[in-house]
Amino acid sequence: MTKNIKALVLFSGGLDSMLSALILRDREIRVTPMCFFSYFFNCDKASSAAKEIGFKLRKEDFSAEQLKIVKSPRYGRGSGMNPCVDCHLLMLKKAGRIMKKEGYDFVVTGEVLGQRPFSQNKGALELMERKAGLKGMIVRPLSLKLLPKTIPEKKGLIQREWFYDIRGRSRKPQLALAGRFKIKNVPTPAGGCILTDPVFSQRLKKLFELKKNFNGSDVDLVKSGRVFFKGNVLIVVARNEAECKELLKKRKRGDLVLEPYSFPGPTVLVRKIKKSSREEMIDCGIKLLLDYTKNVPEDPVIEILPFPKSY
Ligand code: SF4
Repeated sequence: MTKNIKALVLFSGGLDSMLSALILRDREIRVTPMCFFSYFFNCDKASSAAKEIGFKLRKEDFSAEQLKIVKSPRYGRGSGMNPCVDCHLLMLKKAGRIMKKEGYDFVVTGEVLGQRPFSQNKGALELMERKAGLKGMIVRPLSLKLLPKTIPEKKGLIQREWFYDIRGRSRKPQLALAGRFKIKNVPTPAGGCILTDPVFSQRLKKLFELKKNFNGSDVDLVKSGRVFFKGNVLIVVARNEAECKELLKKRKRGDLVLEPYSFPGPTVLVRKIKKSSREEMIDCGIKLLLDYTKNVPEDPVIEILPFPKSY
């Protein structure tokens, strides 16, 4: 590492971020790939990708901050509940703070000019940089030759000719580079953020309509199972054994968990999202438990599980 130059790479685990990290490492720059995680996505893809190319991944939890912008995005949402512009800006701002605090020389992203017509055109990239307080400090190795000169270039930390002039949506140039860097498992472009999932987005939208101050535990609850909103309660019906166990782990004080006692059927969790009586919770839970039981006996016995003492 000749000059001890340090780069902080926003690393999603997609091919573009892998290549960006490798291009810099190839020039003896000390690269730290960093992945953000939250209630809505994890670092699993980034971890495997980092391992594949021999990096140790840094993971940053930004759940609380991201939850705020999911509820109230300044720049709107995508097709679902995904506030991508605000979210990306938040990631850049956080990366910028880490860069300054820990002495990194610049921030790196795998962005490719024109890959997404609205968010990755020249104007949009520059605007994000400025709003994140990182003007000239973001290096985009795959498209750098097409973009204005960066501060690290002006300082002589990096050379323009090390980088590329990739533009547009085709993945051909990246796949060729992947071959050059001998990446064996090229990741698929699919993202892992459930905010872009239409079914999950619908659930979250409904939750938000009914409970403006929903929290991370509510988000976890609507991630799996069959989800219903009835009156003032949220009900989740497990679809299989694994989800039955999951629901028991997700329960919070005040939730009601119902299980069939004398017959096979699903576990059901009921959570009040507005003021509601225990009777309302029990009625809603029992109705759905029976609706999703194949063979209901004549006198079904349903158990209300007590809240565990160890909680
Ligand atoms: S897809 Fe999800 S993680 Fe990615 S920028 Fe949009 S909201 Fe953020």
